[in-house]
Amino acid sequence: MTAKSYKKIMKQLVRKKAKLKRFLKFCKPKNRKYGRGRKRCIRCGRAGAHISKYGLHLCRQCFREVARELGFKKYGHEV
Ligand SMILES: [Zn+2]
Repeated sequence: MTAKSYKKIMKQLVRKKAKLKRFLKFCKPKNRKYGRGRKRCIRCGRAGAHISKYGLHLCRQCFREVARELGFKKYGHEV
């Protein structure tokens, strides 16, 4: 079970109170202070391939989509 599906599980357990209680006690992902588990893309919520440089906090896929609007230039291409 990954951290991304955590909210889905909560939705499923809303009506099963005893199971929800047990889930929150034993299976809930920890709130991290630092590290990879803490960082998420602010645009899509993806956890992998995070770019925090220049305070971007985007994943590489979102960065690729919005880079030009942000003023990044692609060097080595004559376009
Ligand atoms: Zn993203």
